[in-house]
Amino acid sequence: MSDIAHFIDNQRVAGSSGRSQPVFNPATGQQSGTVALASRDEVGKAVASAHAAWRAWARTPALRRARILDRFKTILWQRADELAEAISNEHGKTHDDAKGEVTRGLEVVEFAVGAPHLLKGEITENVGTAVDSHSLRQPLGVVAGITPFNFPAMVPMWMFPVALACGNCFILKPSERDPSASLLIAEWLAEAGLPAGVFNVIQGDKEAVDALLAHPDVKAVSFVGSTPIARYIYETGTSNGKRVQALGGAKNHMVILPDADLDMAANALMGAAYGSAGERCMAISVAVPVTDRIADALIEKLVPKIEALKVGPASDRSSDMGPVVTEAAKERILGYIDRGEADGAKIVVDGRTYRAPQGYEDGYFVGPTLIDNVTPEMTIWKDEIFGPVLSVVRRKDYASAVELIDRHDYANGVAIFTRDGDAARTFAHDIEVGMVGVNVPIPVPMAFHSFGGWKQSLFGDHHMHGPEGVRFYTRLKTITTRWPSGVRTDPEFVMPTMG
Ligand code: NAD
Repeated sequence: MSDIAHFIDNQRVAGSSGRSQPVFNPATGQQSGTVALASRDEVGKAVASAHAAWRAWARTPALRRARILDRFKTILWQRADELAEAISNEHGKTHDDAKGEVTRGLEVVEFAVGAPHLLKGEITENVGTAVDSHSLRQPLGVVAGITPFNFPAMVPMWMFPVALACGNCFILKPSERDPSASLLIAEWLAEAGLPAGVFNVIQGDKEAVDALLAHPDVKAVSFVGSTPIARYIYETGTSNGKRVQALGGAKNHMVILPDADLDMAANALMGAAYGSAGERCMAISVAVPVTDRIADALIEKLVPKIEALKVGPASDRSSDMGPVVTEAAKERILGYIDRGEADGAKIVVDGRTYRAPQGYEDGYFVGPTLIDNVTPEMTIWKDEIFGPVLSVVRRKDYASAVELIDRHDYANGVAIFTRDGDAARTFAHDIEVGMVGVNVPIPVPMAFHSFGGWKQSLFGDHHMHGPEGVRFYTRLKTITTRWPSGVRTDPEFVMPTMG
């Protein structure tokens, strides 16, 4: 049983608040550790440590900062299996899926290593006679990241590599459900040469989050999680004068037009709906086949594939899908399937009947579920279920498929499967969603682009990582310069103009 602590000034620090919470292995339902929950005082210590470190870090040449991240990247490559195992033990996702998450996070580290290029400013000579102007991007100071359970390594890595490369100090408040990955990351950053205080981890719940939101030395907050909390973080953080980017929940649709390659669409849906037990913010949770003929044909292809899925613990490397994260999540998801049935939808493959392998009966397993004849009036269409449940909403034509998607409050990702370039282009341009895939089911942008949804899926002005990440973690300064030679010195009382 492990005691999961904070990480301040490059060392693990045991909790002193007297508050803690159990951490479970979702495959067995057994407690695997205890995570400390920070008090306001402990958060204050982490912020003070970061604040003490930030000026020296901001003055460190960008290339030297990048080299530390480069060493961290090498360590990550070498120990990806170790990190993946820590993730699987507390999250439940399969080893390959956890390793995929580590790799996607690592790509942001690779991007951040090249960030000095994006920190270059602009210069204009002679904006007035013998007057030059240049603009540059400077770090904000101490920034915080508050992250969800579903990607305990990748989502922090959407944030801190860019924040650190830009010269900020970073405080990570990971999910209390799978906190161990954060400590491995912190230790490996220290091993790579990151000075003490530049990256601290504070474990905790609402009390720690509220302390970060209220602390005057925390200049910006990056958040990823559910929409109600994202809205709360955005409203509280901005009213306290902080820069905030808060990414929320999702309900991602996949439109399948009549001319689509149906085998390709069905295979894509399998990974997108059931990978990571549907606990991905870019999971496809609604299939929107256009015409009944396509809906019937798609379901016929999907059913045997779903029934063949191997659901089991991550320790069995042949498992396709693991458990969901907690007993409460399992009960919530099963409740949604009941609700869909009660509302008149047709349960085509029923995950409620799943029986776990011997030794894992207490694990939080939900079988993959397919529900047909879902309508926009139903709760299972409106709410984010965040489990291995794929709803089918049948549409008669392209226009009503688009109308359905644009009607939803969430707008994180969307996909269209078609061979018609004209339809695909029109869809990609017109749809009110932040990330669009054309024959790509999970259109997660690469590290050098930026990640973010629209509407209730993102509160704030900046998407994460890529050039948007650099903008979020820096502020612009413009310097106008004149040197004495050849310049008049008479006092000037009108508004200066350079003309
Ligand atoms: P969550 O909102 O419950 O928790 C996220 C973080 O907020 C955690 O660190 C948690 O400790 C903290 N938190 C929880 N309740 C709080 C409160 N009342 N006050 C202050 N802080 C609080 O989310 P989760 O269940 O960990 O993650 C799943 C959610 O995250 C899903 O809705 C999913 O769609 C979303 N998500 C979105 C994206 C995206 O890119 N938009 C990416 C990943 C996950």
